[in-house]
Amino acid sequence: MAIETVGIVGAGQMGNGIAHVFALAGYDVLLNDISEDGLRKALETIDKNLERQASKGKISEATKTEALARIGTTMTLSDLGQTDLVIEAATERETVKQAIFEDLLPHLKPTTILASNTSSISITRLASRTDRPEKFIGLHFMNPVPVMQLVEIIRGIATDQATYETVLAVVESLGKTSASAEDFPAFIVNRILVPMINEAVYTLYEGVGNVRSIDLSMKLGANHPMGPLELADFIGLDTCLAIMNVLYDGLADTKYRPCPLLTKYVEAGWLGRKTGKGFYDYSGPEPVPTR
Ligand code: NAD
Repeated sequence: MAIETVGIVGAGQMGNGIAHVFALAGYDVLLNDISEDGLRKALETIDKNLERQASKGKISEATKTEALARIGTTMTLSDLGQTDLVIEAATERETVKQAIFEDLLPHLKPTTILASNTSSISITRLASRTDRPEKFIGLHFMNPVPVMQLVEIIRGIATDQATYETVLAVVESLGKTSASAEDFPAFIVNRILVPMINEAVYTLYEGVGNVRSIDLSMKLGANHPMGPLELADFIGLDTCLAIMNVLYDGLADTKYRPCPLLTKYVEAGWLGRKTGKGFYDYSGPEPVPTR
């Protein structure tokens, strides 16, 4: 089916990036959030990021203006009812996502495809609570969305082939590359990436290395563009912990137990870049390791 209009629920760091890439690809976008300030900030961020692309010569000023003009915002969820595809990118809490779909369902066209950008919650379970599990799919964009090439596509147990193929074509139209994953805890990228980060935290916890030596080892020794602890700060330590808990609970294997030091950092509110402190302190001109 043809997708022309896209509704996005949640205008945080992922929602604004998703709006950015869809508008740039020519889709009409309606961005929803419960926070008016969040919507204003999202538009500012999109403007700034499009400007960065324009100043690097990747897009023209005219393309930037056209993309911005395609993005509308609303605090009324039912306004998204007439869109062809709704992508939920709200806070990673199952009750929040469930309530959004519940409120949205009565206003949707029967043909609208529902997608969630969840990092780890079961697509099958989210879908089962809607009136269209066959038209429900996981669309997992990577952060920062305008820069990262991959989109994971996750089929729930009931997702039909037509929905999968439609979404596959949509991802391609964004100029991105998709990888298909089955619906098991944390899918592919986070199933591999987050336990590696957790292991780096264990390496720190057990005193095998300090923050600097662990990050340096993985950057220069394994050719990773960022060290695992630096990356954890970028993702958010609360998000990393939440994903480890999903793996631990969902796969019932002790190899996924979250490192107690990761839990301690989260309890301290040291969540990484977003709070100014995590494995590094970001209050000065240069990040300084906290261990
Ligand atoms: P964020 O905290 O930056 O943004 C979440 C937004 O959702 C906020 O603006 C909040 O106001 C809004 N929101 C909360 N409840 C809402 C509701 N009922 N209706 C409308 N909006 C609501 O979070 P984020 O990092 O953008 O993550 C969003 C989703 O994307 C999560 O499911 C997360 O797991 C997933 N994700 C995150 C990353 C990442 O690296 N941060 C990567 C891939 C996927």
